[in-house]
Amino acid sequence: MSGKITFTMIKPDAVEANNIGPILSMINKAGFKIQAMKYMQLSKEQAGKFYEVHKDRPFYGELTQYMSNGPIVAAVLSKDDAVADYRKLIGATDPSKAEEGTIRKTFATSIAANAVHGSDSDENAQIEANFFFSQLERL
Ligand code: ADP
Ligand code: MG
Repeated sequence: MSGKITFTMIKPDAVEANNIGPILSMINKAGFKIQAMKYMQLSKEQAGKFYEVHKDRPFYGELTQYMSNGPIVAAVLSKDDAVADYRKLIGATDPSKAEEGTIRKTFATSIAANAVHGSDSDENAQIEANFFFSQLERL
């Protein structure tokens, strides 16, 4: 597993808290390059589609409501071992369990409002990047 890209979102809580800049800075300092980026707001339906794998989980309604509640930044990041290295940089899903120095430890407020998304596999990185970006919008 040494894919070159991963997909991230800066989630509504982090955008609202004016943490777009600090999070992008951490991403760049960790060696990731930005291949594509956009600022937008998801509809509840679009958030539902993005998180469809979680549709049977008890938090699905809360998650899709929250993710469509305000603007997000979506981006494709490139680096060797992008998926694994980015999961390390963002830290555990629950920020109280995330390591010091990770994005979630630094910026997340709860397990739902956890500042950022990061792909969990090379295959999902491609699917998620294609969900948000056309070929024209990617380097
Ligand atoms: P990750 O984002 O670390 O890959 P998951 O894929 O398991 O985590 O979950 C997707 C998102 O759903 C999480 O980032 C978080 O916003 C939300 N979530 C996960 N678990 C819970 C939970 N127990 N309660 C509320 N929201 C949750
Ligand atoms: Mg996940």
